[in-house]
Amino acid sequence: MCPAPRVRFAPSPTGHLHVGGARTALFNWLYARSQKGVFVLRIEDTDQERSTAASYAAILEGMRWLGLDWNEGPDVGGDHGPYLQSQRLDIYRQHLEQLAAAGLAYKCFCSAEDLQAREDEVKAAGGVWEGYDGHCRNLTADQIATAEAAGKPYAWRLRTPDEGMTFWYDIILDKLEFQNEVLVDRVIFKADGFPTYQFACVIDDHLMEISHVLRGDDHVSNTPFQLLIYQGLGWKPPKFGHMPMILGPDRKRLSKRHGATSVQEFQKQGILPAAMLNYLSLLGWSPGGNAKEVMTAREIIGKFSLKKVGSSPAAFDYDKLNHINGEHIKALDPGQKVQLALPLLAERGWALDPGWLVHGADSTEAYLGRVLGTLGNRFSSLLTLPDQIGFFFSEDFYVDQEAWTEHVGTEEAGTFLKALAAALEEGLALDQAHPAPAFEEVVRRCAEQQGVKAGQLIHPARVALTGQSRSAGIFDVMELVGLRRTIERLRKAAGSA
Ligand code: GLU
Repeated sequence: MCPAPRVRFAPSPTGHLHVGGARTALFNWLYARSQKGVFVLRIEDTDQERSTAASYAAILEGMRWLGLDWNEGPDVGGDHGPYLQSQRLDIYRQHLEQLAAAGLAYKCFCSAEDLQAREDEVKAAGGVWEGYDGHCRNLTADQIATAEAAGKPYAWRLRTPDEGMTFWYDIILDKLEFQNEVLVDRVIFKADGFPTYQFACVIDDHLMEISHVLRGDDHVSNTPFQLLIYQGLGWKPPKFGHMPMILGPDRKRLSKRHGATSVQEFQKQGILPAAMLNYLSLLGWSPGGNAKEVMTAREIIGKFSLKKVGSSPAAFDYDKLNHINGEHIKALDPGQKVQLALPLLAERGWALDPGWLVHGADSTEAYLGRVLGTLGNRFSSLLTLPDQIGFFFSEDFYVDQEAWTEHVGTEEAGTFLKALAAALEEGLALDQAHPAPAFEEVVRRCAEQQGVKAGQLIHPARVALTGQSRSAGIFDVMELVGLRRTIERLRKAAGSA
């Protein structure tokens, strides 16, 4: 039996948690959870100029929001810490010394300006600059001593082989191979005393006993170089799986111009974490066959398999995300829906006013529960919800102008609305709350007196009360709006006819 896998998410804290990173974190988490393995969070903060505390906090917050919990990491600890690379500098240095002693790492005294000048020269002559030209590869001991005596700063580079091949069997992309002669002697330790990503990543994956490195396919070109570091240190590399990148709906690399790209932005747009997780899981993976796509995290874990992760790029489909979000909202129980919508009320200062005299609702929460109950499955987005329920809380509600002109804006409608307002005032006590059937009785009686079908009163009344031509049952609406406000709105609408 294979031992339980150990996987990791290793973000560089240089920005928000973006869709690509979140998908990488998610697939690692799903693999760990589905295989009863361990999910490690490691922060790759060796780029001191670009790493920020704010980004570190944002990444952790994004992961927590999605519900991706980690077994080992900077805040929770673990047996393989520390989990912040900036706290592991001694470890990297020891391993650099090991490589240097074996002749596999060498000092490079080229400054950024030297490198730039040579790059310009190569390009001016029509050549291709691969990143480094081996300038310091074969410095003599004397040359090195002179440069050091002159106090020249130096970086360390890995001495890559000139011949042979480096290959691996990728879990997702199958066999990948590179000619060693095309591999550049990249920097593994910078002059500022920090290792580069390439080096720290290998040391940590090994020491943290990572069994599977699952990451974006933008790292494919790093893998042969990293494999050479494993080889140089005499270590067995982990298995690698490179996930295809995420494209925008136009099949170009997903970017800001397509819309939201960070998890935080989606959160602000009212996407539920369960829906985001569900949608991200479908970017490159599918449960297969006719299996339903709307799933809880638990269901996804039950079905997840690396074998079903595809090798072609996945396009981010904002409409599908919204659809899946709607399905997750619909599946919530009434109490959860209330909790989800309450912050929207608070933002707008909407609350139940006791003066509305609403039958059976004695708190804002209870009232909201009833209001959401009238929507049923039509509550499928937090973005459209305020327009859908605004008329229950405020006189300044959204009005569909077309419906208003058609149903309220005629002389006939004006007459009916006035008659109905009068009938309600006369038929029901203004200082009491009334249930829906009481309103229904008055409306039907009034229609009879006007000699029309009830529908002819109900249509204009609906638009006058809700601003829209479609709503929940009109008598339920009247009950929840309350008698006084109902009469006021009917009169106001009649006045505008
Ligand atoms: N810190 C790297 C990144 O954010 C991690 C790459 C890897 O998973 O090896 O891209």
